[in-house]
Amino acid sequence: MIPVVAVFIIIFSINFYFNSSPVTKVQNINIMLNFNDDNADSHIDDQIILGFRIPGTQAREDCANYFISKFKEIDSNFTFVLHNFTIHSTNCQNVLFKLNENQSNIVILGAHYDSRKRATKDPDLLKRNESVLGANDGASGSAVLIELAKAFYDVRENLSCQIWFLFFDAEDQGYDEGGPGMVGWGWAEGSKKFVNDIENFYDSQNETFDAMILLDLVGGLKLQFIKEKLSTSSLVDELFAVGRALGYTTQFPLNPASEKITDDHQAFLNIGIPSADLITKFWDKSLWPHHHTTLDDNSSITTTSLEATGRTVEQFIYNNYFNTTIDIYKGNYPWKEDIDLFSSGITITVMVTIAVAAIVIVIVNIIKTRFSSVANPPQKKVHFFSK
Ligand SMILES: [Zn+2]
Repeated sequence: MIPVVAVFIIIFSINFYFNSSPVTKVQNINIMLNFNDDNADSHIDDQIILGFRIPGTQAREDCANYFISKFKEIDSNFTFVLHNFTIHSTNCQNVLFKLNENQSNIVILGAHYDSRKRATKDPDLLKRNESVLGANDGASGSAVLIELAKAFYDVRENLSCQIWFLFFDAEDQGYDEGGPGMVGWGWAEGSKKFVNDIENFYDSQNETFDAMILLDLVGGLKLQFIKEKLSTSSLVDELFAVGRALGYTTQFPLNPASEKITDDHQAFLNIGIPSADLITKFWDKSLWPHHHTTLDDNSSITTTSLEATGRTVEQFIYNNYFNTTIDIYKGNYPWKEDIDLFSSGITITVMVTIAVAAIVIVIVNIIKTRFSSVANPPQKKVHFFSK
């Protein structure tokens, strides 16, 4: 048993080493950041004025058209793709914009834009059938994407990656403790559909995905990002280090909460794309009491949170992809997938082999002992008497 225990301890230690997060050192390149948080704030207002952007509604459709109009303001020829799908016969639509299509390595920046049909966590039980305006839960991430698109467009010729700005429908209608947003719907349905059809949206012979960064609930008061457990840890760690180096130490705390969150990044992780969910600690009522309530309106949005999110993602992209004549700094690029030795086939094979070997050794030893005791019976003690 000792070898088995020893190997178990060794594997545990290696696992701990790879999956614990030594503080990633970043070197934020010295560059002007152009993300404008006031503009992002107004993009939130623009979305919620359309009404509840619930799947299947006119407001949802108006919101998709709003994104198209904003990207056409940046460039009337901005490439966009509408991804239509249905969930329980309801027409839904993801909206994708592509920048720098001449580059073959793609970074996806995503956010959901649907708002929740039912305020299932509203403190007022009578309001739980009302809808959520989703200023933070939906509109904030989408608003940051629009503003990032503007910032990156201006320096696009200096960026060595293609960037997708991807707005998901049908994320926020699943079941929480107060019931469903929409009956029978799961979480993050839009991103699953997108990934199912992803071959239609890129040239798999010539294009590859570097990373996916999801922004969810990023504009509320007391923003405090978590280290989302499903996310690729080297990618999350780097985003935290970039944000902290920019001075956003409350938004990117040194010891963040760590939880598994079902969200739009999961489908991308499932096809092997390093992905990170930047999401606030939304279940902590002392930080964000408005999750899935009718109070998720623009009165609880702050430009400070939008700024911390937007500038961190902007800096992250420049650190990794801005072409400069000086040595290009790469953080944890290419953000390899996490390896969990406990769940890998190799570990199981090694463990079983060692266990079998240990049993064989024990049996052999028993047989040896028996054999030698038969061949050499214990001798009677002989007492010698000296004269
Ligand atoms: Zn939500």
